[in-house]
Amino acid sequence: MSDLDRIVAALQAAPSVAVLAHVRPEADAIGATLGAGLALREAGKVMGAYNADPLPPGLACLPGAADLLHEVPIGPRYACYLVLDTSDLARTGGLLDGRSADAVVLNVDHHAGNTRFGDVNWVEPEASSAGEMVYRLLTRGGFPIGKAVATNLYAAILTDTGSFQHGNTSPEALRAAADLVARGAAVEELSAGMYGNHDPREWHLLSQALASLSLTADGRLAWIEVTSAALQRAGLGMEATEGFIDYVRSVAGVQIALMFREVSASEVRVSLRSRGSVDVARLAQRFGGGGHRNAAGCTLRQPLEAARAQILAAARTCVS
Ligand code: 5GP
Ligand code: MN
Repeated sequence: MSDLDRIVAALQAAPSVAVLAHVRPEADAIGATLGAGLALREAGKVMGAYNADPLPPGLACLPGAADLLHEVPIGPRYACYLVLDTSDLARTGGLLDGRSADAVVLNVDHHAGNTRFGDVNWVEPEASSAGEMVYRLLTRGGFPIGKAVATNLYAAILTDTGSFQHGNTSPEALRAAADLVARGAAVEELSAGMYGNHDPREWHLLSQALASLSLTADGRLAWIEVTSAALQRAGLGMEATEGFIDYVRSVAGVQIALMFREVSASEVRVSLRSRGSVDVARLAQRFGGGGHRNAAGCTLRQPLEAARAQILAAARTCVS
């Protein structure tokens, strides 16, 4: 039996399922969670969809987003936990902590560094997105894919491929996306909700972040930073900066793009993006983080300046 078939069998057998993904979620995490969750509920399961953190503002438009919960009840409520897009158990933000001893943990992920923390593990680093994997799992198991499910899974594939621009834009990803559109994915409404619904304060914050754009290593490294003072002045949370780093990566000649976000005077969130064969997941791992070859992150318990100096020094050794 393949790992995929083992996941399908476990879901078919489970009367109740908690569906969840990683902390600080983006559209793949949430689209996969809601897509899988709504299909399982439609198939007659008791289902709860969870994330430990708040949704970035652009994801409120995803069908079912309003029902997403942030704490899983302790005890035997769920026979099964379907964990999506999550490379290690700590990245669930504690959502599995209160599960009963006999609960089955299903791990469905596309991160190469996945720690295989589940009772059943289906890990495919070649998959474009967790959304594409959920699509395969639902079609394989004959679970219903209606308009709401299709819209969520389409959103997941769309965003993890960078709107079909990154190297993970495979024939399988495009075929899944095409089939999801055929099944009613609300392409236009989704784009309006995800990309056409910004708070003007986000763009004021962006303009400050872009003013900090700096380059080094002959233009192969570029970075921006977002201070906690700037966030406070804007009256926005960290999730409002999702996507800022794409501007940094889009500068001609840049091999590694970085964004430093000051969480507090002693903590910095670092986002890393690269092009082609430059592997930022390995760079992030050196600082206790992780991710994919071209998109990764880590957190440093240091003041902004010290964190920036350390990461830039390490990043310089990764570019050619
Ligand atoms: P972002 O820069 O958007 O926060 O993260 C980009 C990607 O890197 C995420 O989708 C996730 O796969 C990975 N990532 C970010 N931060 C961490 C981290 O602290 N640990 C691990 N293992 N992966 C991370
Ligand atoms: Mn993903």
